[in-house]
Amino acid sequence: MIKIEPARRLELHLSYTCGQKCGFCSESVRMDRWRHAPLKGEEISATLLKHRKAGFNHVTFTGGEPTAHPLLPAALSAARKLGFNTYLTTNGGLFAQEAYAREVLPLLDEVCLSVHGPDAETHDAAAATPGSFERAMKALANIEQHGDRVYLLTNTVVTRANWGRLEDTLTLLTKHPKIRHILLSSVAPEGRALKDYKALAVPLSQWRDRVPALARPFETNGVVLRMFGLPLCVLDGRPELSNDAHYSPRVTVERRGARSKPGLVAIASADASRRRSKPVVCRSCDDRGDCAGVFDRYLALHGPAELTPRRSS
Ligand code: SF4
Repeated sequence: MIKIEPARRLELHLSYTCGQKCGFCSESVRMDRWRHAPLKGEEISATLLKHRKAGFNHVTFTGGEPTAHPLLPAALSAARKLGFNTYLTTNGGLFAQEAYAREVLPLLDEVCLSVHGPDAETHDAAAATPGSFERAMKALANIEQHGDRVYLLTNTVVTRANWGRLEDTLTLLTKHPKIRHILLSSVAPEGRALKDYKALAVPLSQWRDRVPALARPFETNGVVLRMFGLPLCVLDGRPELSNDAHYSPRVTVERRGARSKPGLVAIASADASRRRSKPVVCRSCDDRGDCAGVFDRYLALHGPAELTPRRSS
């Protein structure tokens, strides 16, 4: 069963700008609205202090692209002094600059770098930004050189466009021994991805056919492979492959309010079931307690026919 534990993880949306224009961006609507209003220093300090006092011990800085916020180094430093473990999601951003990487990486425990393909052609098309693959690879090289104690993860958002390059992407990533953990994310129907979801999302039946072969090398290569946004029956019933099964309850702090008077809101998430549900067919499934279900948008477009409830008897 999915365990409901008290949230210890804070997710802080620091900036609302990004140098890329990914077609699957789940943050595009928030970025359009709040581009002019990155978090102020006093908001960052107050949020960190309040949640640390409440027992939170892990903070994820995200965005937009968090390295675009000039106060990121100071925010990381403050989080460290308060006793947080620090985690950052990035498309590479300023880590492509060696001096920035050297200054900021010692303040980080974990970094999740986005890599959406094995080469510039695939990655740059996914990011709709020429030069973005080169920047991500420079960032990777700098993290390898200056991030001695950083636990490095990567995230690949999988769409119909890069689906055919997935093995090549995994081959590229596993050639880098510093990368300890690879996340394959199915498209989340939010922001820009909601509008184009039908064209972007890979059918669940195709994922199911391919998961065993994708996962096989990771049984022996020492790298963790997880997948986000897929029900357990698509993952061969293997919770170890499900990012959802390893979800930590969290509180997300982000911009909300009138454009002229930006405020902050804290949203609690106990599990990974946001915008997802389990249709009637799931009632007979032995895995329903561990499964976060299917994106509502997917069910609206394709129905539940691809789901295969597991029954032990
Ligand atoms: S049948 Fe439903 S509950 Fe069972 S694994 Fe599939 S989506 Fe999850």
